[in-house]
Amino acid sequence: MAGGGNAIRGSRVGAGPMGEAERGEAAPRQAVTYFCAHGHRSVIAFSVDAVVPDSWDCPKCGLPAGLDSENAPPAPKIEPYKTHLAYVKERRSDKEAEVILDEAIQLLRSRRKSGEIIF
Ligand SMILES: [Zn+2]
Repeated sequence: MAGGGNAIRGSRVGAGPMGEAERGEAAPRQAVTYFCAHGHRSVIAFSVDAVVPDSWDCPKCGLPAGLDSENAPPAPKIEPYKTHLAYVKERRSDKEAEVILDEAIQLLRSRRKSGEIIF
């Protein structure tokens, strides 16, 4: 199966309402340990029939986690591009950001009045 994690998860969900446990026969399981870039160590149990994916989302932080403890997958870049306002909000208190936003609005308005088209 080439579907990766989602396909595996889908098959687990679709296997039955409560899986084999309800029928009193626990399916054989294999425990697979995944490591994420934050150093979390997560043991995921898979059916022995399942194809163990190379990566799994870390249950603790959501980063992709891999099988190699020495070489965890890098955290994905959250946003390749941030607006100036987002940057300001992140780096400054809300109060400061408000002032800066206000200044920006004033600047936009004054530019509009002077005939410069912004948008
Ligand atoms: Zn993690």
